Amino acid sequence: MIEKKKKMLEKIVKENGTPVFIIDHEKIRENYREFREKLPDVQAYFAVKANSNPEIIKTMYDMGASFDVASLPEFTLVRQNFKHLSEQEQEDFIWNKIIYANTIKPSGVLAKLNNYKILVTFDNIEELKKIKQHSPDVGLILRIRVPNTGSMVELSSKFGAHPGEAVDLIAEAFDMGLGVEGISFHVGSQCNNFDNYSQAMNFASSIFKEAELRNYHIGFTGKENKKRKILDIGGGFPVNYTPDVKSFADLSEILNSEIKRMFPKDDIQVIAEPGRFIVATACTLVTRIVGKAIRDGKTCYYLDDGVYHTFSGQVFDHQRYPLHSFKDGEKKVCATFGPTCDAFDTISLADELPDDLQIDDLLYAENIGAYSIASTTYFNGFPPPKVVHLNKN
Ligand SMILES: *Cc1c(COP(=O)(O)O)cnc(C)c1O
Repeated sequence: MIEKKKKMLEKIVKENGTPVFIIDHEKIRENYREFREKLPDVQAYFAVKANSNPEIIKTMYDMGASFDVASLPEFTLVRQNFKHLSEQEQEDFIWNKIIYANTIKPSGVLAKLNNYKILVTFDNIEELKKIKQHSPDVGLILRIRVPNTGSMVELSSKFGAHPGEAVDLIAEAFDMGLGVEGISFHVGSQCNNFDNYSQAMNFASSIFKEAELRNYHIGFTGKENKKRKILDIGGGFPVNYTPDVKSFADLSEILNSEIKRMFPKDDIQVIAEPGRFIVATACTLVTRIVGKAIRDGKTCYYLDDGVYHTFSGQVFDHQRYPLHSFKDGEKKVCATFGPTCDAFDTISLADELPDDLQIDDLLYAENIGAYSIASTTYFNGFPPPKVVHLNKN
């Protein structure tokens, strides 16, 4: 299996050079199917920021996914796939297909979004005022601040209304003549503490109840003329980068039973915004050794990709992507560096690799699909890697 994979990667390198970023669309479809199968009552909005490659968006669109966007360019990227639909179809469709899940939106963006029936999130009064002025017709989802304990990437310091202030904020929206369609949260990315989800759903459930008691009727009226509230459980669904990560299968059981327990009535539509879960395991990077030196007795390999490029996930996503050699050999602790003239461009001071690799030998890293190429730069004149697609429809 591994030998077969190596042969395939070598062939791709022969045709495309290095560094090369390989996206396996069948794996993306598999991940999406698994998400849908394990959480059958949850509508999945793929979080485009994890990997905004247009071909990934197309694959997800073809699978029937919805999308979470956080900027106007991401919105445009997703909407390109709708072009074959009529204006009316697009209007019906976008409501169901896109959530703009960045709680902070410039006024100009809001004005543009108002042309579409789209869901947007908010978490503060200033944003509500902007929405009232520039996009009074969009659907509103209140994002609340929830515990992010035990997640790799923390988000609660930047986003979310305090649960204690949530109903007042909902009241403000209604008093301004706006509606509120639902509540969202994000437990932090790569969440390995599933209590976060239960606690967050508890907050949401209380807020729905208190709002109802105060006569603010959250929800939207769908096609069948029935009012339903939206519960958006965000992202955070963990990927098995290492064996200590808890399984998504266990999480999905907890989620299904908690949703049933806390939201027993059929007046709720649950949606989620998986990013990492869809793309992380679908991508592999192949990089080339372009330099080699022995420093303080340790073998140092200089590669044609690094921390300013595909390995940027080490910085922004707190993730590591162990490098593997195509050649066998006794493994020693080696250092690996990226190509730029910055010492910060250090991939690892302790990669386990054979120390007799040569210039032009190849290395690869797996599970590098999320928050990696998405934040690559052109620093020092080095461009992002070439992208190659496998199993595209
Ligand atoms: C980043 C983000 C996501 C995706 O999170 P993952 O942990 O990658 O699934 C979903 N929703 C929002 C609002 C986000 O900011």
